[in-house]
Amino acid sequence: MNFNGYDLTSILDMVKSGSTDIIDVNEWFYRKSMELNGKINAYITLIEPDRSKIGGKLGGLAIAVKDNISTMGIRTTCASKMLESYIPVYDATVIQKLKQNGGRIIGKTNMDEFAMGSSGENSAFGPTRNPKNIEYVTGGSSSGSAAAVAGDMAPAALGTDTGGSVRAPASFTGIIGFKPTYGAISRYGLIAYANSLEGVGLLTKSVMDAKLMFRLIAGKDRLDCTSVNVALNDKQLRKKISLAVIKSLVKGVASEVRQVFESSVSRLEQNNFIINEITDIKGIKQALNAYYVIACAEASTNLSRYDGIRYGPKGDVSIDWKTYIANSRSQFGKEVKARIIMGTYLLSKGYYETYYLRALQVRKNLTYAFESILKDNDAIYLPTMPVLPWKIGDKLNDPMSIYLSDALTVMPNLAGLPAISIPIGEKYGLPVGGQLIGKYMDDISLLSIAQRAGEVIKK
Ligand code: GLN
Repeated sequence: MNFNGYDLTSILDMVKSGSTDIIDVNEWFYRKSMELNGKINAYITLIEPDRSKIGGKLGGLAIAVKDNISTMGIRTTCASKMLESYIPVYDATVIQKLKQNGGRIIGKTNMDEFAMGSSGENSAFGPTRNPKNIEYVTGGSSSGSAAAVAGDMAPAALGTDTGGSVRAPASFTGIIGFKPTYGAISRYGLIAYANSLEGVGLLTKSVMDAKLMFRLIAGKDRLDCTSVNVALNDKQLRKKISLAVIKSLVKGVASEVRQVFESSVSRLEQNNFIINEITDIKGIKQALNAYYVIACAEASTNLSRYDGIRYGPKGDVSIDWKTYIANSRSQFGKEVKARIIMGTYLLSKGYYETYYLRALQVRKNLTYAFESILKDNDAIYLPTMPVLPWKIGDKLNDPMSIYLSDALTVMPNLAGLPAISIPIGEKYGLPVGGQLIGKYMDDISLLSIAQRAGEVIKK
């Protein structure tokens, strides 16, 4: 038996019909992962399959988990030297829910250190390589989760998304990446980068898989006071679905991406989708700046706990405490250090008002603007990434150009809205993703729209 290209839903169907056994499925993905990991570097830790039989909706199926989600007894590194040997003593709520539904973990996936990055290159364990072409980046920060699914090394994966970390790698590797409404999945046990923006998301081979998994792991959690209960039942979609396309944003993307995007728009228009063009949104160009101000500010606060006392490797305690903490914090990689310094600066007296408070204002304006567009439309449709995947190493000396590649993915995080990237075509053999942004708390409708749009575009 060979599971290349199969989505999780069809694998579970095959198990149910008796044509395959869950133990064989897990063994197959594990063996394939062992074989390919040296080349792709999708996993930081791989876990030997458990051969016992269990029940639940997932019936013992093992999926991949990003290495910033706490897993009891399994090393959780955030792809950082700082947490190289950290083993959590508890499971994140999302892992508990996975287990309650008969899910298992095949391995912990590679990522940009502390989820800071867009390409999967900022890892202390080396870059993840794109299974579509190993010379290219996978996108990040959930790089290993995307590569594992796209490379048939896992039937599905959990990732996290602060400003595009699930959607960017999904787009670059040609799979589905779903970031739910803020709070729809508990963040308890997720190692924090920027709390007000981030959440757990899914990387899958089909929209159906994302829906199935989302229903198992979503829900309010008393351990995360920002969590919410979104409706999980299917709603009847309108016969004609209206999508808003923001022209000024589409104009700004690379021509190769624009061509693929525009031909997908034509297909949608020919097949019962109404396209409403919006020329521009006032202040939308500031969204990316606002995102980086807020993300760095929150990161500088969150990452203060890595001091070699509370978290991080313990050093020689006989030296003075400033040197002790400095030694410990030198374990952070270059990008993480840059963001902590930036965030600390932004929050200091005088700059707080100039940058941080203004960023919050931009965030609020954007949220209102998106809310009003979504009153008149079922979803917003945009490219996921403004550029094609680039070659590993090509942009390492130009961090600004990497930040710019987040221009279209950060907006749903700022506004707390659900968003999904679906494959819409290829250029030079490299995948291009389209992004659908849905209404607040109406994640299931967004998934249904994505399902229908995906079918139309593929036709
Ligand atoms: N690229 C963005 C950043 O580095 C988003 C990362 C993410 O979503 N975790 O902040």
